[in-house]
Amino acid sequence: MSNFLTLKQKVFLGVIGILFLLNIFVWKEVFILAGPHYLKVDILDIGQGDAIFIETPDMRHILIDGGPDLAVLGKLAKLLPFFDKSLDVVILTHPDQDHLMGLLSVLQKYHVKNILWTGIARDGGNYQKWLELIEKQKQKGSNIVIADLHTKIKSGEILIDILNPIENLEGRYFNKTTNETGIVSRLIYSKKSFLFTADVSSKTEQQIIDLSRQAGSKVNLSSDILKVSHHGSKYSSSEEFLQAVHPSFAVISVGKDNSYGHPTPEVLQKLQNFGIKILRTDQNGDVEILSDGENLKIK
Ligand SMILES: [Zn+2]
Repeated sequence: MSNFLTLKQKVFLGVIGILFLLNIFVWKEVFILAGPHYLKVDILDIGQGDAIFIETPDMRHILIDGGPDLAVLGKLAKLLPFFDKSLDVVILTHPDQDHLMGLLSVLQKYHVKNILWTGIARDGGNYQKWLELIEKQKQKGSNIVIADLHTKIKSGEILIDILNPIENLEGRYFNKTTNETGIVSRLIYSKKSFLFTADVSSKTEQQIIDLSRQAGSKVNLSSDILKVSHHGSKYSSSEEFLQAVHPSFAVISVGKDNSYGHPTPEVLQKLQNFGIKILRTDQNGDVEILSDGENLKIK
């Protein structure tokens, strides 16, 4: 009996070895594909404006507003795989420049399966551009939805409830008061929730509080994370509203050295008085929050 392997035996063992490695490789891939997915919410640092990117645990992609310029495109390129030029949902809270402009470039570069907005009428060339672009998306099969209190977005285990506007505002003309028409939404994933308040003032905040207090109301405000309304304007974030939401964290989407003086000392003081931890895009950059439905992890 020889201790030396024949060439045939060596080749056989080599092939088995390669198959073994391939097998491990395959299993690694399967493991990665089947690995735990989290809800990811990115409040993007896009200057003075709002742009919020959401990746659901079942890998759907939602963008709330697009910020004031092209910056959002660079962010999306990093957040989505290079081959993915589609978004599942785009929400335009209200057609003001600092929320709308970036979305115009997004609609030119991405196919959007669902577009949710209020359908309000207003003046301005950029607003007209928005109408043209959503019409083009519609022709390519996009679903255009007008948001009101009855609108819900469901994807796997996550739910987004619309809390404002209360009624359908389609075709109604607003010019200076567009902020009050803004889509306020609450994202729920098991035990964790997020409240996105667009630019609504305390007047609309109060309306939502009143709604939640009506007998048999299904409106719930309480949320772990609050995207502070209107970049920290003093006309938003009333004490009553902060009490009703009682978040652990408040995120302020705001541009460095902006001419509005946002966020205002009044709002920062109120948040501190309630012991709410503050995160700011002008100081912290992109604020990324991960959740498994039970816990939150903030980057
Ligand atoms: Zn704004």
